[in-house]
Amino acid sequence: MDYRGIFEDALDALRQEKRYRVFADLERIAGKFPRAVYRDDSDNAREITIWCSNDYLGMGQHDKVVGAMQETAGKLGAGAGGTRNISGTNRPLVELERSLADLHRKESALVFTSGFVSNEAAISTIARLMPDCIIFSDQLNHASMIQGVRQSGMEKKIFRHNDIAHLRELLSAVDRKRPKLIAFESVYSMDGDVAPIEQIADLAEEFGALTYIDEVHAVGLYGERGGGITDRDALAHRIDIIEGTLAKGFGVMGGYIAANKSIVDAVRSYAPEFIFTTALPPALCAAARASIEHLKTSQEERAGHMRQVQLTKEILSEAGLPVMSTDTHIVPLIVGDARLCKAASDLLLEKHNIYIQPINYPTVPKGTERLRITPTPMHTDEMIIELRHALVSVWAQLELPRERAPAALTASKLTSGDLTLPTTGG
Ligand SMILES: *Cc1c(COP(=O)(O)O)cnc(C)c1O
Repeated sequence: MDYRGIFEDALDALRQEKRYRVFADLERIAGKFPRAVYRDDSDNAREITIWCSNDYLGMGQHDKVVGAMQETAGKLGAGAGGTRNISGTNRPLVELERSLADLHRKESALVFTSGFVSNEAAISTIARLMPDCIIFSDQLNHASMIQGVRQSGMEKKIFRHNDIAHLRELLSAVDRKRPKLIAFESVYSMDGDVAPIEQIADLAEEFGALTYIDEVHAVGLYGERGGGITDRDALAHRIDIIEGTLAKGFGVMGGYIAANKSIVDAVRSYAPEFIFTTALPPALCAAARASIEHLKTSQEERAGHMRQVQLTKEILSEAGLPVMSTDTHIVPLIVGDARLCKAASDLLLEKHNIYIQPINYPTVPKGTERLRITPTPMHTDEMIIELRHALVSVWAQLELPRERAPAALTASKLTSGDLTLPTTGG
């Protein structure tokens, strides 16, 4: 048996479809965000600017956050030493969960090793515990939510992206007595569009459904206290389960849900993804909590973020680059072809010392391949001008189109029959 050949064939298939992923070897420089040292294939090092980080506010390098991590590691050591049940429940983790429950004004919160795991564990467990449950899932939900839906083994209905009328139609076709779970995101990370949260909550109330929102791309960034879009729009009390990550806006690592005590306790007690894995280390928990607590009161990072996002959108649009208009911090630049998207990314890195990873199928539909730009408060005005010059040069060299891109392109590219785009979000 040629076992090796099997794997090589599988990789070749990806290469042929231009889906083979290449990772950039980066060394972030604490205090110089968003600058980093990049090493090429021959290990030659040079400094570059990252324009696609999900450390949206640069909190991963904030003094308070790094300080909390160092101090806690010094005092409590490196690892947690066990699962939550077997001596791993450390004091900073308990405090982190309290901080998260307070952030979303929920009774309780539960921390997981990642946002991916929190979605998979929470959605599958919650759905499984409701007899004969039916799940209503937005068409563009993240791979981790899709995984949770599948893992539950329960019946599912996929509604067209952000389409309230379609959701109503699907809800009304189901027996009123059946338990229902509506799962969706607040900010969708590829098109940067926002769900009609209030209308979904209204429908949930009308049809007696439980609501589950993924606020991964919004926590830390939106709302008076960084509680996400549900905080900004005062809707947290209308959503049953809020899920988030500690890895993006908060700059560290881990995931969580916040909900009422019974739901959280049930997931804690039934989800194997939570039970049978080692707890997050104390230093990491302390760092995440420092980040969350800082962003509950400080408006500086959020204001700076929005200012630089706005400026980036304006400057790139004025240069005639195909910026997709969004209401959020995500600035998608449409290329529309997998090979050219990769080529644009390579040129930016090789010639201009700018790193923006190409986003191709299956993360986005074919024909909407893009560079997903995420400005942070630490990207200076000069860096934005530099980015503009670099992109204009790359666009000219590759003869890429300069017309304006329509908003929410991903959903519009999908036909109504095509309700199962295998999104990966990464
Ligand atoms: C990144 C992401 C996750 C997973 O979060 P991690 O903490 O990185 O595992 C979940 N949902 C969405 C929408 C994401 O983009």
